[in-house]
Amino acid sequence: MLELIFIGTGSASESLNRSHSSFFIQTGKYNLLVDAGDGISTALLKQEINYHSIDGIIFTHFHPDHFSGLGGLIIQMEILQRKKPLQIFTHNKLIPFVKDYLHLSYLFEKRISFDIEFIGFEHDEIFNVCGDIRVKSKNNTHIDVYKKYDEDDKNYFSSSSFLFNLKDKNLFYTGDIAAKNDLLLFPEEKFDYMITEITHISTEDILEAVKLIQPSVLYLTHISDDDGQKIEKIINETSAFDVPTIEAVDGLKIII
Ligand SMILES: [Zn+2]
Ligand SMILES: [Zn+2]
Repeated sequence: MLELIFIGTGSASESLNRSHSSFFIQTGKYNLLVDAGDGISTALLKQEINYHSIDGIIFTHFHPDHFSGLGGLIIQMEILQRKKPLQIFTHNKLIPFVKDYLHLSYLFEKRISFDIEFIGFEHDEIFNVCGDIRVKSKNNTHIDVYKKYDEDDKNYFSSSSFLFNLKDKNLFYTGDIAAKNDLLLFPEEKFDYMITEITHISTEDILEAVKLIQPSVLYLTHISDDDGQKIEKIINETSAFDVPTIEAVDGLKIII
């Protein structure tokens, strides 16, 4: 049995009600954390997730609400004398950056109590996280606005939307996006589950795209404390085209 738990469902705004957006996929054999933003260690504690149970972490992009909890989480694992290797999945070109970040946080690979295995992926290629989790990444436009700062063209700016194939079910996670077309990155696929962020995209764009895509069920995440009306509108209007829509909250579980 596969299970998905929302660890956090908040936006980049700090909130006492929601941790930053992240979820945890448990297959029974392998447990994958999707994003590890600021405060992830506390958020995992709140959901009673044992740090040692995390086998891998995959990153959509490197905004602090999705990435900057990594160092603190590795420290928690180190304090608890983790022995099991930890896998980190990110775009190939971003691996040196993550290694530098850990090094600058004094988390030297040779010194900590467990191995970190970096696994790079490319967009548009399917890769296996484990037997029950296959992933395809698509580059979305969330951080295209920063490209002008990529002066030496290191291509450090990559933001993923993920199609997770979980046994025989498809889950589309938008990650953070910027435009309606980012919701339409997998036109050939049918989604058993779709999780969309709602911060960087208009209600109208979400509604138009969901009407086209027709996922079996839609979950809303990346929610700010003042998003109540937006959520209500999306839930009401998607019911008109028979897409059950659920506002995710921290701790919500999906049995897949
Ligand atoms: Zn975000
Ligand atoms: Zn972002």
